[in-house]
Amino acid sequence: MIEVETQLARVLAETEQLPVERVPLAAAHGRVIAETVTARYSLPPWTNSAMDGYAVRALDVAAASPESPVTLAVVADLPAGASANPSLGPGQAARIMTGAPVPSDADAIVPVEASDGGVRRVRITSPAAPGAHIRVAGEDRTPGDPLVAAGARAGAEVLSALASAGYGTIEVARRPRVAVIATGSELVAPGEPLERGQIPDSNSLLISSLAAEHGAELIDVLRVSDETTHLEAALHELARRCDVIVLTGGVSMGAYDPVKELLSPGGQVRFEKVAMQPGKPQGFGRLAAPWVGDGEVGPLVFGLPGNPVSAWVSFLVFVRPCLRALQGASVVEDPTLSAVAEVGWRTPPGRRQYLPARIRTTDAGVSVSPAAARGSGSHLVGSLADANGYAIVGASVERVEAGDVVQVVRLMSDVDARL
Ligand code: AMP
Ligand code: MG
Repeated sequence: MIEVETQLARVLAETEQLPVERVPLAAAHGRVIAETVTARYSLPPWTNSAMDGYAVRALDVAAASPESPVTLAVVADLPAGASANPSLGPGQAARIMTGAPVPSDADAIVPVEASDGGVRRVRITSPAAPGAHIRVAGEDRTPGDPLVAAGARAGAEVLSALASAGYGTIEVARRPRVAVIATGSELVAPGEPLERGQIPDSNSLLISSLAAEHGAELIDVLRVSDETTHLEAALHELARRCDVIVLTGGVSMGAYDPVKELLSPGGQVRFEKVAMQPGKPQGFGRLAAPWVGDGEVGPLVFGLPGNPVSAWVSFLVFVRPCLRALQGASVVEDPTLSAVAEVGWRTPPGRRQYLPARIRTTDAGVSVSPAAARGSGSHLVGSLADANGYAIVGASVERVEAGDVVQVVRLMSDVDARL
């Protein structure tokens, strides 16, 4: 048996960042930024008003009060987007809306609430200190200031910062081209009636959806029987078109395990026993000839165990970091949190446990319980519907007791509705 870290290190050693491409910001959403980005211009680009009101010379309104308002002549009207820079003499003001550039002669904004709202002449009822309600050009970023580091994920917040700092396009790694092949003669399409012995193929959806959530472009999602000829044909067809092929099922010691039978000889894909539960049998490698042309670099191949919970854990522990590394992400593993076990549960001796879990955040802190009410089992696919993450329990632990602190990982797609 090998350690999880050893297997993950093998995966990451084989994983090279994909070539980069320049895309419009909207197309970069969720992808990994491949360049270190600095601000192209100041943020904000212009010194502008933070309020709807009047741009004034602070000195003019220093004595204003409700009892003795100061009356100013309104010599300009500046809505957002206005480009004018009207001169203001003593006793003059410009009506101004939020975001409009502040005239160079003004040094304060009086909010409309402190005025009578006049259009030609305005009565100001309170003073404004120099700089009041003015957003200074460059107070957020100045040109050349760091904005986003290479390897960061282009979430909504990052995209808005990039757009504001002068970018319309950005370099991102190409999406990993991924195919998913579920193996098993017992598998039928979801929703089909079942004959005795058959089960719905849930892994295809599970793995392809997870891959898409992690930036993959899905090339194909297939279901093949346990005849090696079917798998062989599918692999020949896909090997030249993919960066990664994820297979599920057929990696164990049994008869009719086509993935192992087909890919084990020749050693391109190695089948290991990894000290984890679930997910002990793992196949990983890179296809070469005859799957691709002589000297060509073929796709990475993951042979994940078929039990749905095993496939899920295996994806999260090995495939997810690989997909992130292919995209140049600076962080490929998810952060763990400490959580208090709400109940006790058994763990397998000598193997690290990855338990589908419900993680709750309350005023008292983070707590965790198994997603499956009746113990863990790699076949308990229904329990995945209740999981919003997983607990990781060390190999030396034999039982988690209620109140113990364990490490947990929350899912990226975790939503409050599931808490
Ligand atoms: P295997 O790894 O092929 O020995 O499969 C182990 C268990 O997982 C068996 O009970 C299979 O029926 C089940 N299984 C395999 N592939 C899938 C799949 N695509 N969807 C749902 N269950 C599966
Ligand atoms: Mg099978």
